[in-house]
Amino acid sequence: MKLSVYGAAREVTGSCYLLEANKKKTLIDLGMFQGGIKEELKNKDLPFDPKDIDYIVLTHAHLDHCGRIPYAVKKGFRGEVISTKPTPRISELIMNDSAKSFERKAEEAAYLNKIKKSIKNSDLTPLYTKQDVAQALSHFSQSLNYNEVIDLGNDIILEFINAGHIVGAASAKLTVVENGVEKSIVFSGDIGNKNKPIVPNPSSPGRANYVVKETTYGGSIHMPIELAVKELYKTINETVNNNGNVIIPTFAVERAQEILYFLREGIENGELPGDIKVFLDSPMAIDATKIMSEFPDWFNDDTKQLIAKGVDPFIFSNLEMTKSVAASIAINDIKRGAVILAGSGMGDGGRVQHHLKHNLWRPECSVILISFASEGSMSRKLMDGVSPIYIQGHPIDVRAKIVKLSGFSAHADTNGLNTWHRGTGKPDTTFLTHGSEPNMNSFAEILRARGCHVEIPKTNDAYIL
Ligand SMILES: [Zn+2]
Repeated sequence: MKLSVYGAAREVTGSCYLLEANKKKTLIDLGMFQGGIKEELKNKDLPFDPKDIDYIVLTHAHLDHCGRIPYAVKKGFRGEVISTKPTPRISELIMNDSAKSFERKAEEAAYLNKIKKSIKNSDLTPLYTKQDVAQALSHFSQSLNYNEVIDLGNDIILEFINAGHIVGAASAKLTVVENGVEKSIVFSGDIGNKNKPIVPNPSSPGRANYVVKETTYGGSIHMPIELAVKELYKTINETVNNNGNVIIPTFAVERAQEILYFLREGIENGELPGDIKVFLDSPMAIDATKIMSEFPDWFNDDTKQLIAKGVDPFIFSNLEMTKSVAASIAINDIKRGAVILAGSGMGDGGRVQHHLKHNLWRPECSVILISFASEGSMSRKLMDGVSPIYIQGHPIDVRAKIVKLSGFSAHADTNGLNTWHRGTGKPDTTFLTHGSEPNMNSFAEILRARGCHVEIPKTNDAYIL
């Protein structure tokens, strides 16, 4: 079999691998490159002919794993997309949000073109539209349970293994018999942090000949989640006592629901003031909360028990979900005791910008950073102590308290990644992907010290296995 690495090579986005075996071409993930104009430009070039691809095996619904599927369909992909059961619904939400942003950018370019006539043609066409997403969804043909084994034909077997991370997230194990020899390859997908509130801890994929493995946090150790929750409660209590508001920039899927889970629990057990007002100010996160609630069988045992007792893990009386723009704007009038969860997760766009504008300059307020923050993002600037911050062109002095809590990460840290890798035995080769080079090198050292053979592929590198 042949493995080609087409994305997430020495970077964290654009996950895409091609496995060719027994005359079948299977892509594992087809994610979006994200992070800036240079990254986004890479999305237009598919390094294969989509018409030739038989399957896309999708590990989970995050944009950097599913984001280019509608584009591939637009370019002629006619095969099947195979995932776990929750993934099509969550992918639909995420791909539609992405289409919306492409359509908006194209509209803005069209407007600029009208007044300046200097816009490139390529900028006037969205990478894909909501119609392309609808078309893509018609290719999501099979959705499976964890550990359900299916035969893709031509002596290729697929199994999804629970990866923790987000609802329905999986590692994909493909077992191929070629010339009478059986070989297995595991694509880790994104491996979850342990002891998360909604999804189970990651499961071991079992022994494999080859492993393609994410290393997002290959070089760091997270704060334990119990400690992160304590810090979250402490910051909220202090801020409310100081007559301020708390802003939490958050990703719409999973992270928002996890924070809601902990806020509900804190209010119920008296660790948070009973009179705080929690706002989920993100139409996408509101939709994500509803979709996740459709898949209670995919939650961990603690959350299933809560539901069995009649408790909604995410919804509580102090919570207001503000879908309309008017309801969102009305939050600006609240000066004390509001805990505002809003996107975007890295603070660069969306409604959180307005809340930062109204609260960042107030020393009595706090901003809690719980999400991954790429270089140059608003959250990263706040973490690095940059002041003033420019929001919609206006300088804002940062006087609010900035608190960074790594314990809420959806990704395993070095220890979690190492535990997961031990479960694969000692593979012939481990390919490290989906990480920055320093993180990859640091994790490679750990594996090499255990006698493992490690490769760190570059984009378009290919291997005969
Ligand atoms: Zn992910």
